[in-house]
Amino acid sequence: MSVPTYTPKLDEATEKMQTRLCRLVGQAIADYRLIEEGDKVMVCLSGGKDSYGLLDILLVLQQRAPIRFDLIAVNLDQRQPGFPAEMLPQYLSSRGIPFHIEARDTYSIVKRLIPEGETTCSLCSRLRRGHLYRIATELGATKIALGHHRDDIVETLFLNLLYSGKLKAIPPKLRSKDGRHIVIRPLALVKEADLARYAELRGFPIIPCDLCGSQEDLKRKKVKAFLQQWERESPGCSDSIAAALSNVAPSLLMDSRLFDFASLTSTVTDQSEGDIWLDHEPAPREPIEAAPQPLEFLR
Ligand code: SF4
Repeated sequence: MSVPTYTPKLDEATEKMQTRLCRLVGQAIADYRLIEEGDKVMVCLSGGKDSYGLLDILLVLQQRAPIRFDLIAVNLDQRQPGFPAEMLPQYLSSRGIPFHIEARDTYSIVKRLIPEGETTCSLCSRLRRGHLYRIATELGATKIALGHHRDDIVETLFLNLLYSGKLKAIPPKLRSKDGRHIVIRPLALVKEADLARYAELRGFPIIPCDLCGSQEDLKRKKVKAFLQQWERESPGCSDSIAAALSNVAPSLLMDSRLFDFASLTSTVTDQSEGDIWLDHEPAPREPIEAAPQPLEFLR
């Protein structure tokens, strides 16, 4: 396996942020077993701050981890007007990162099929996903890494709560519908603000995300504003919401597929479960900041 040489000379602020991101990404990798020995990880690089950050941190971890895995950056050039096609190859070549760039004109398909003024993201993402899955197969990638971060996950949770009547978000690890691909989200514990700061500190050559001219999803925009307002009024509530996603009590919800309410009967012996959640809070999970470092990745 080829590991690109990567010897960054970082100033103190950048190094501090990089260490923080490495810890959180390492934690997610260890908690959800996102990357394993011998994996070939295809890192989807859009040119936005999140995917640059993802690639950068995985490169650092690749050098530090005691396991061996390959990374390949992949960009799908969707032929959006004004897309600076030379920017990513230049950046990736200059850093010696293996990459694959493929041009597919999904932009024209989306423009043709979606009426003017309507949000195009849903079809655009579906088309992109199809191509990325195909490319992963062609490259022999065992994992597909996407740059969704903690705030994307929390926003999606609220979008589903408020508009779809579903209690679901975006998982850190997912098997594709056809079962052939494993999609991973190593930034699942990382805040968007930290990625923005890191992108600034590292000076990534960002490609603007509005080249397609799509209207931003208004519902998502509203949810984002609502969560930001809430965070201003009650600092730390975003951390609490994110923590809740890995602290679920199915017996205190109402989904009979997750908890067998029908078979619930009284009993004469003490039960370790029952309504204990109502009387005693379960031991809180260790906050990410204080959690021990995931040794597998950060030794
Ligand atoms: S913002 Fe544009 S490029 Fe991004 S998913 Fe939406 S339509 Fe596609």
